[in-house]
Amino acid sequence: MGEEIEPRIIEGALSLPYRWATGPVGARFLEGLKNKKILGTRCPKCRRVLVPARKFCPRCFVDTDEWVEVGDKGILRTFTIINFSFVGQVRKPPYIVGIIELDGADVGFTHFIGGVDLTDIEKAARELRPGMRVQAVWREERKGDILDIEYFKPVRE
Ligand SMILES: [Zn+2]
Repeated sequence: MGEEIEPRIIEGALSLPYRWATGPVGARFLEGLKNKKILGTRCPKCRRVLVPARKFCPRCFVDTDEWVEVGDKGILRTFTIINFSFVGQVRKPPYIVGIIELDGADVGFTHFIGGVDLTDIEKAARELRPGMRVQAVWREERKGDILDIEYFKPVRE
């Protein structure tokens, strides 16, 4: 007791490269993005449209059986502003990630939110509201990648 021990820090780095097979459903979803189409699949039991397209409904545990094209606009349900760096980021902070309920879909779609000035993060946070409409901003050159959508921007309709 009474003896002070200096805090110790052990530094290290982890790296986890991986490859992941999309499967036929994921491949068709990604192929759709090339053509500016966002595809979902419908569950035959609960009738929900899942986006990105899924092979099976995680709620009902049955295979989906119908392809559905959903809108590239939707409702921003929630968002967070990331303003610190960590390993694996595909964007340099600050940036915004949101959950979007696309028109015609029944689940949230996670993607970047853009078209918002992030020089003042507090101000940017006030500009966004859950419930506001957002729209996909597509890349000029698409290659069948989730980043064929650069981000979703707020829209006034
Ligand atoms: Zn279901």
